[in-house]
This record gives sequence, C-alpha cells and structure tokens, in this order.
Amino acid sequence: MQKTVGIHHITAMVNDAQRNVDFYAGVLGLRLVKKTINFDRPEVYHLYFGNESGQPGTVITFFPWANQLKGRIGTGQVGSTSYIIPKDSLESWKDRLKKFRVKYISSVRFGEKYLQFQDPDGLEIELTERNQGPINNWNIGDMSSDFSIRGFSEATLISAQPHKTADVLENVLGFDFAGQEESFIRFTSEALIGNNIDIKLTPSVRGLMGAGTVHHIAFRAKDEEDLLKWRSLLQDRGYYPTEILDRKYFKALYFHEPGGVLFEIATDPPGFTVDEPKNTIGEKLMLPSWLESKRHELEETLPPIEVRTLKGDK
Ligand code: ZN
Repeated sequence: MQKTVGIHHITAMVNDAQRNVDFYAGVLGLRLVKKTINFDRPEVYHLYFGNESGQPGTVITFFPWANQLKGRIGTGQVGSTSYIIPKDSLESWKDRLKKFRVKYISSVRFGEKYLQFQDPDGLEIELTERNQGPINNWNIGDMSSDFSIRGFSEATLISAQPHKTADVLENVLGFDFAGQEESFIRFTSEALIGNNIDIKLTPSVRGLMGAGTVHHIAFRAKDEEDLLKWRSLLQDRGYYPTEILDRKYFKALYFHEPGGVLFEIATDPPGFTVDEPKNTIGEKLMLPSWLESKRHELEETLPPIEVRTLKGDK
C-alpha cells in the first residue's frame, strides 16, 4: 500500500509580511528558508519558514497580502499547527512567549502537554514537548538548540465530515490510527517530525478562507515517480487530483478531501538548495526563470522585509 510518511508543509494566509517574519523568525526562531513570490500571483510574497535546512515536516509557508480580508477558522480547514519542542523546554517557551507578550494557554491532548497561542494574524499555533526529531541548530536572540523548534508534531484538521476525513487519512494516505479521545482522533505515520494528524470531533463554525487561516496542508511523496503513483491511486478512488505542478522546490498535486480541507501531495526533492547555497537560503528574493525579467519591477513593488532580532532578545 502507498503510505505517506507525514506532513510536508502547511501554507497559510496573512496580512503583513514583516509582522509575519518577526513572529515566525523573531519569536519562534524558525529560519526563513525561502523568500520568493506566489507563482500564480507574483505581486505577493511566498515566504517559507522551517528548521535550518527547511526539511519536509518543518516548513510553514505564507502568502502575506495587505488587502486580504480576514478569514475565519472553521470546518474545511487546518485548525491548528503544532510544533515539537525538546523535552524540558516548556518553561523556557513560557518565558519567551511572555517576553513578547504572546498570550498562551496550557492544555493536554493524548497525554501530552501543549502551549496554545495565536500568531499576529490569528492562526492557532501549539508547542508540545517530544523526544523526537532532529536537533535544530538555527537560533535567534537568546534562544539555544536546547529549546528550538524541531519541526511539526501534528496538524489538527477541522472537517465537515470527520469520519470521511479519517477514512482518507487511513485508507488513502496510509496513516495509522493512533487513538481517540472525546474530542479528537489521532493518526500517525512513520516520520520523526510532522508524523501526526489530529481530527477535531466537536462541532465548529464553517471556515472562511482569508487572512489568519490555513490554505492547505501538504503530505510527503518520496519523488516524482511516487507522486505519479499517488495521482493514479487518487483517480482510482474517485478523487480529482490536479495535474502535477512544478513548484520549483518540489513537484505537487492538489485535491479536496470530503471534509473540505485542501490536501496537497509534494515531493521531498529537490528542496530549498536547488537555487541558492545552504548557508544563504532565504536571504535573496528568488524568482522562477520566467519571472527573472521582471525582477526589478517586483523588487520595487514588494514591501521590504528583513529577519531581525526583536527588541529585548539578545
Ligand atoms: Zn503547498
């Protein structure tokens, strides 16, 4: 049976580019691993944040667009994005969030402790301690690898039809059932990061796409040959996957699952070093070849952004 090893990336929409960089790089300490534009709308940035190498299973991406209306988190969307932090780092994270005036609450799910908070656009983010995943040596300010984010722990889906979504995860994508609580079902896969998916079972309002909501979640394919197999499998099961698209850093297809969430399947290769060296990824605006001739114009119109150490963070 075809099996994905877990989450490849998660893509969301926000209003302000610099505020987005300040939160994901400045507060959460992720690396801006690619600064490019939305291939379908070049006047909008596409920013990618991950661990030091931007490994699949660590990457959250954003389309920051100032004029975008605010969305509403609800059914047919990823409700929250959760990250693995090292064991015994929860207290350091509480201090860090307090320092940047990020209000958090503590909760427990499947026996694990979570810190839950919102990013400046209202996206739901969580941190949970787990002894797994590669150590992330990318740090900012007074952070250290003892507490830096390692990658995703899971994403929580808010489905209009939770049991149908569960069926897709288990019987199409090849996740294994891991447990059920009153309000959540958990599925798991093989990777050490981004390996879990939770489905929320309690009723939610209908989601509205817009700033502060997740646009889609991508699952991992080994390579292009594997992606082609996924495409035929989806067609055999009655889904309508898109053609395979070249996203420069991966090849991808998209389909809607029955609960309304937009799913993508994306290849691990070639990754973010395909167009710039590993030690400087994310620093320069990268454009696909067909837009190189418009570089000057795009650099003039896109708002300037920088990765910076925030005030009060040594
Ligand atoms: Zn994507």
